[in-house]
Amino acid sequence: MIIIFNSHATKDNVQELIADIHAKGLKTNLSEGDNTTIVGVIGDTTKLDIDNLKSADYIADVKRVSEPYKKANRKMHPENSYIKVTDKVTIGEGIFNVIAGPCSVETEEQIIEVAQDVKKSGATLLRGGAFKPRTSPYSFQGLAGEGLKLLLEAKKATGLPIVTEIMNLVHLDMFNDVDVIQVGARNMQNFDLLKELGKCNKPILLKRGLANTIEEWLMSAEYIMAGGNENIILCERGIRTFETATRNTLDIAAVPMLKHKTHLPVIIDPSHATGISWMVPQLAKTAVAAGADGIMVEVHNDPPKAWCDGAQSLNPKQFDDLMTDLKRRVEFEGKKFYI
Ligand code: PEP
Ligand code: MN
Repeated sequence: MIIIFNSHATKDNVQELIADIHAKGLKTNLSEGDNTTIVGVIGDTTKLDIDNLKSADYIADVKRVSEPYKKANRKMHPENSYIKVTDKVTIGEGIFNVIAGPCSVETEEQIIEVAQDVKKSGATLLRGGAFKPRTSPYSFQGLAGEGLKLLLEAKKATGLPIVTEIMNLVHLDMFNDVDVIQVGARNMQNFDLLKELGKCNKPILLKRGLANTIEEWLMSAEYIMAGGNENIILCERGIRTFETATRNTLDIAAVPMLKHKTHLPVIIDPSHATGISWMVPQLAKTAVAAGADGIMVEVHNDPPKAWCDGAQSLNPKQFDDLMTDLKRRVEFEGKKFYI
């Protein structure tokens, strides 16, 4: 349920109503916009009488929220959310961030070199997997703790905040110095992991599951938010369809649909969406037109020799060319590119 206050409402009116609602055992979500104040009510709202609420002269309207996701719902929070990663890097509407780096951290030279290259080209965050979810148990599984250590060295060398995937909540303590924790497609519905991430205060990059609907995806975001962590960035990375020409099928329509349904920032991963490096720049550019808040793209210093996902990785020169083109398009849309 959402309770919309009118312009006569005082802060005391809002606080008193919130206290009444809490006294009935329900939770609230306060959204104070420039023009409207909204209190979202979460829980068994049959305990509240809509007509009674509407009768107060400081209430403009009261409506039920039919969607099962509440905190992630734009109706509860009409303004866009911004996710502050560091003092310099914020993700959200009006800013276009590029997260770039290799699929997996391989060696110190590799990660430092890629980090320096992508920074030079304008990337604002560095990606790199240390724990890799691989289809085959015989494939390279990531350097685990050693990979995180190398990633932190690359962060120190470049100042770029880092994004890396968590696969198991037993590793959470190792992520203390990670700036953004990624939940990969295969773990989008690992509810125990989501609940645990809800208790920390770090930004979470939540990728869409391989065959999950937008509603299921938003319910996964809701799991994290219900625990108290509202710092979520959604990442569309392609879904399973009958099409086999590309690794996955990029659901570009998910971007405007998510922008309609949620206040959370949305980015696109054109690398995992296609699996083919020459397609990546074109799809990265569609992200701008679709209204995404950024992209996450795989870049490797020597793609043919990459230990993982070389076929979809751009080399530093291809990435730099893409960034020049993107900058023009992002600025044309009236958004900020470099921070
Ligand atoms: C990744 O970003 O490294 C990754 C494994 O992606 P996804 O979870 O989207 O497959
Ligand atoms: Mn990859």
